[in-house]
Amino acid sequence: MTKDRKLIFAGNWKMNKTVAEALDLVRGLKIELANIKEADIVVCPPFTALSEVSKAILDSNIRLGAQDMSPNNVGAFTGEIAAVMLKEFSVRYVILGHSERRQYQKESDELIAKKAAASHAASLKPIVCVGETLSERDGGNTQQVLETQIRGSLAGLNKDQMTETIIAYEPVWAIGTGKTATSDQAEEAHRFIRQLLGQVFDETVARKVRIQYGGSVKPSNARELMSQPDVDGALVGGASLESRSFADIIKNSIG
Ligand code: PEP
Repeated sequence: MTKDRKLIFAGNWKMNKTVAEALDLVRGLKIELANIKEADIVVCPPFTALSEVSKAILDSNIRLGAQDMSPNNVGAFTGEIAAVMLKEFSVRYVILGHSERRQYQKESDELIAKKAAASHAASLKPIVCVGETLSERDGGNTQQVLETQIRGSLAGLNKDQMTETIIAYEPVWAIGTGKTATSDQAEEAHRFIRQLLGQVFDETVARKVRIQYGGSVKPSNARELMSQPDVDGALVGGASLESRSFADIIKNSIG
């Protein structure tokens, strides 16, 4: 089945890679991915490597993303980075509401919605992460959790902004654990999210929004996951830290 949404793969490097290591990784990715046109490819290095990575990918098909941003534009917010600062390095995407930030920085849906609005105001495309924990899944609450996160984290976006927003469905129990959701579990959640977008926005928006799957995606499971009708790419952690595995995830998905 062909999808009319272009697949999008983003590598979330988290708190990994010095500048020299980041450049090494990008050198490998540029070679491995040079001819790929069928998918959007994004790398999200730590803030400290954005400047150098930005220069290194100028002549490539790889785009730059950040891992977070402030909801504020300027001012006394120690340690924060504003959208306009990311734009200086040609950042195009920003991950918002990753489960690690929800857990360790106690980020709320309300805060994530403010960040999403600020990112659109600066023409950055947000990758908004949602997903249930294992106890929420075991308790039969997956859909309720997803609905709360989707309604809360995307509150206030207009239809055009929503169309340019990417959602990453990342079951928390699958992140960094080696446990991947089955393709049926992923599709069920993605379909639910798309139906919900149809209710909250409209059917046209719902059809256009790209929904990535994230959680222990590897070259060996990518193709099966991407073959699901509502799965439009992947947000990749561990396997994006090595050029061969990230490239193979993409190649296996489109090949
Ligand atoms: C992530 O952190 O977004 C992620 C999906 O990690 P991993 O691929 O390592 O499970």
